[in-house]
Amino acid sequence: MITFDQIYKDAKNKMTGIAAAPGLVIAKAYKFVKEELEISKLEITNIKQALSDFDDALSKCKKELNKILLLARDIMGNKRAIIFEAQMMILDDPILIGTIKRRIKYEKMDPEFIVDDEISKYQKLMFKAHEAYMSERAHDIEDIKSRIIRNLQNKKLKSKISKDVIVVSETLTPADTILFSRSNSKGFVTDHGGLTSHAAIISRSLNIPAVVGTHNSTMLIHDGDELVVDGFHGCIIINPTKRQRNFFNRKIKHLNELQSSLKELKNNKAETTDGKVIELLANVDVTGEIDIAKTSGAQGIGLYRSEQIIAELGNFASENEQTEIYRKLASRMYPQIVTIRALDIGGDKFNFSEISEPNPFLGLRGIRLLLKNKNLFKAQIRSVLRASRNKNIQFMLPMVSSLLEVRETKNLINVCKKELKKNKEKFDNNIKIGIMIEVPSAALLAKEFADEVDFLSIGTNDLIQYLVAVDRGNDLVSDLYREFHPAVLKTLKIIVDGAKISNKQLSLCGEMAADTLAIPLLIGLGLKTLSLSPATIPNAKRIIRSLSYANAKKMAEECLKFTTSHGIISRIEKFFEDSKIKRTRNII
Ligand code: PEP
Ligand code: MG
Repeated sequence: MITFDQIYKDAKNKMTGIAAAPGLVIAKAYKFVKEELEISKLEITNIKQALSDFDDALSKCKKELNKILLLARDIMGNKRAIIFEAQMMILDDPILIGTIKRRIKYEKMDPEFIVDDEISKYQKLMFKAHEAYMSERAHDIEDIKSRIIRNLQNKKLKSKISKDVIVVSETLTPADTILFSRSNSKGFVTDHGGLTSHAAIISRSLNIPAVVGTHNSTMLIHDGDELVVDGFHGCIIINPTKRQRNFFNRKIKHLNELQSSLKELKNNKAETTDGKVIELLANVDVTGEIDIAKTSGAQGIGLYRSEQIIAELGNFASENEQTEIYRKLASRMYPQIVTIRALDIGGDKFNFSEISEPNPFLGLRGIRLLLKNKNLFKAQIRSVLRASRNKNIQFMLPMVSSLLEVRETKNLINVCKKELKKNKEKFDNNIKIGIMIEVPSAALLAKEFADEVDFLSIGTNDLIQYLVAVDRGNDLVSDLYREFHPAVLKTLKIIVDGAKISNKQLSLCGEMAADTLAIPLLIGLGLKTLSLSPATIPNAKRIIRSLSYANAKKMAEECLKFTTSHGIISRIEKFFEDSKIKRTRNII
């Protein structure tokens, strides 16, 4: 049988980018070229007219955005639609709007020139932050800027396209993505953008395959070209050959069959053929995933990345806002457990302070940042406690590297509990506190940490990067980022043993938990709980239900003796062959 690797290896009509939203689709390309707005730099004489034109343009923008907001709420739910509320707020920002009006008055220049100049200043600052999140937000502001200018020029927005096409564009704003999805777009391909771009986030929530950051798709793809968009591997095939088309059609058919058969597994336990039951929890990254977590058969939430709230709101949430969000989450999942992870900011995720760090991944990130910003941390602790009344919340600390951090946090939690008691607030006094094991020092001291807390969860995404000294987001060294590195296996074994001696709960919530090849190995190593993205749960269940724990244990013991990742991978592949389990990687 031909594999993806083989089909892509010699393909001359292939382009690659970032796999932003999973899925596979074949359809015709529609090139979406935004009209270049020419900005007039003329001096004006009628200031009153210019100011009234500017006000008119703002109200047209609001009307347009309001329509998009309603549509977005309809297809994505209130929480995700908040992106558009944030855009509306920019239109009402008294400082920005006031400055633009003042400049129109005093500089006596065309409003479109002032709008362009003033908003571009903000964007430049954001781009300067050299941070993926901020530069994506700078792109969002571009949308607002051109929306105002277009309305000042009385130009209409083109958003209707023919149905069932793959949209190819330099960039896509959140609004474009929403409008195109309404026209049944089958996929998205963009030159720019990363995983955190709103176009990527929206495509994921709408289940539309997307490949972003291709650099030159708009140059190489022509209108009407037939495209294959593979959002699993981040590949695009332009005008597939007969062999390629047959291959992808087969895969799409298989994917559809698999997805419907996996749905049937929802109510079955993740139990091995010899009776070992594995707990499968969900990682929740975007609010929309809570519903998928419920329908995928997850037994609770093993990782709620609370920093997503900042991404969704575009700002830090107040203590009351957080309490509300956590309460809703906990009651939606009740009686299942929800593991809220303390804000993991710093590193590559959100720039908290003005300080630029030479090595952010080794700097003020996760628990380190929180302990240096106690008010921020205490607000989160109090809100988690206030939401814990029904006793189905546990609290987890990210990036822990020393026991002192855990002790200091526990003291802080006690202080918060006292404050709440004083205010007669009800909360779960025995709320479980756990830590992520994602730094090698914590891994080596797993038993000591386990003695100190209620549970551990292994974050392999970071653990691997720190263990093998490979930046998890750096393309140049991505081939060295190996989850099957012998050192990774040995470290996992140390953690499993440490948690066992201390008799504490242990789970694994890194991406490795969703890797088809890794699942038997992790179970063989003794992991009883895996937390993974909800969409991948049915496939994990399928694998677990087809394997024997005794055989997986034997295989894992052998793998621990290998000195290279090649040896380990071959041994796992043999396990799949011997057990006659289909080795489909995450659905395909
Ligand atoms: C991890 O590091 O494995 C993890 C789950 O955390 P994040 O990916 O959010 O850093
Ligand atoms: Mg991590």
